[in-house]
Amino acid sequence: MAGLEQHGDGGHRRRVVLFSLPFHGHLNPMLKLAALLHARGLGVTVLHTCFNAPDPARHPELAFVPIHETLPDEATSPDSDILRKLLALNAACEAAFRAALASLLRGGRRDVACAVVDGQCYAAMGAAGELGVPALALRTDSAAAFRNMLAGPQLRDAGYVPIKEEQLDEPVPGLEPLRVRDLIRVDGRDTDEHCSFVASVAGAVRASVSGIVINTFEAIEAAELAKIQRELSLPAFAVGPLHLLLGQPPPVEQSLHEPDRGCLAWLDARPPRSVLYVSLGSLARVDRGAFEEMAWGLAGSGVPFLWVVRPGSVAGGAAGAGAGAAADEAPPLPDGFEEEVRDRGKIVKWAPQREVLAHAAIGAFWTHCGWNSTLESICEGVPMLVQPCFADQMVTARYVTHEWGVGLEVGEEVVERGMVAKAVREAMAGGGGARMRERAHRLQMQASAAATSSAMDGLVRFILSL
Ligand code: UDP
Repeated sequence: MAGLEQHGDGGHRRRVVLFSLPFHGHLNPMLKLAALLHARGLGVTVLHTCFNAPDPARHPELAFVPIHETLPDEATSPDSDILRKLLALNAACEAAFRAALASLLRGGRRDVACAVVDGQCYAAMGAAGELGVPALALRTDSAAAFRNMLAGPQLRDAGYVPIKEEQLDEPVPGLEPLRVRDLIRVDGRDTDEHCSFVASVAGAVRASVSGIVINTFEAIEAAELAKIQRELSLPAFAVGPLHLLLGQPPPVEQSLHEPDRGCLAWLDARPPRSVLYVSLGSLARVDRGAFEEMAWGLAGSGVPFLWVVRPGSVAGGAAGAGAGAAADEAPPLPDGFEEEVRDRGKIVKWAPQREVLAHAAIGAFWTHCGWNSTLESICEGVPMLVQPCFADQMVTARYVTHEWGVGLEVGEEVVERGMVAKAVREAMAGGGGARMRERAHRLQMQASAAATSSAMDGLVRFILSL
């Protein structure tokens, strides 16, 4: 990167220390950011948990240092929900992260320009601050979802949370187009615990962070980004879509499971835009009833589909291959389902998702609206069917359907086979689907334009100024 001053006092590369929580959807964007910063002349050290550790062999240019955390079961068990995991990880990583960062600093404080830490890891933000290292928070969700988190304490004071049934369809002032039902939530969780997590993140960002890095782009979230900068009086760098900036093929992708590449050959034999791709990401779980409705809805739609049925993705005891099932065993499909869809359904445990979405045979994506999946769909111009499960997915689903107009809801609150079949047919062959496809194509163009933008250079200049 010509023209940028990359060296510290001693003539060494300035170094950035990165730390992500060990979730697939957090670690991958962080590693992409690492590669992009390194390509712009910065030294990069990735601190990481031993659990779900990245594979250093895939990134020879980066330095990797484990933090040697001790994690309780609830941080890692597929049976604990996302909130319990986040709380447990924050608690367990704080001292280990601080010790690892302190040890790096002994090698030369001036060489370390800053730490870029997971935007959900308030413990790391605080620890970096205590050690005198400027911290940047990497948000791997959307700017809109981040605004929802920042507003958490005010939403509580204004009576919008805990969420009340009678308010579900009310717009939330200051967070439009969100309605109460779209606010970040984790169903079945103690509200106080959720509020306190949100307050910890918002508090740490306000107290300990020098800037925000967000895997989004101006064309889709300009207003949200401007509000974040104004509300926090901090710079917010919209450096996304990170996977586009990095280019193809994805050299730094960590995979949760071995992708089943056979599905690409299966897609090769299908006509353009004829297949619905179905995946709810790396963490979401549905109960057995919803899973069966999904299956029979797909069968009833008559549409060819590629469905990721991930091990552990169905909750609810042995019948759902939940508790007691082998960790790599996919949940059993409903009786008679495979016979019914044999000629037009392909089921895999894990797909090479980006290649799937880029395949000409894909007509739409039934997604949980995880932010990575949503961005990947936008970047390929693929319209969506949305089934948000928890947390920021609710916010993103609202933007996909109502702000960007590139998605339809699979159903209301409950997944029901008749509605599923109808929504699938509409997305693939109806007038609504055609309009969404046109808009998705426009967003795709805007995403490509963003991938050549200067936001990343701005971030590097900012880092070097710290
Ligand atoms: N993914 C994949 N293969 C699959 C399912 C998901 O490669 O079969 C990837 C997907 O491309 C995305 C990530 O897993 O990059 C999921 O991240 P997202 O933020 O969408 O959801 P999360 O897993 O965090 O809920």
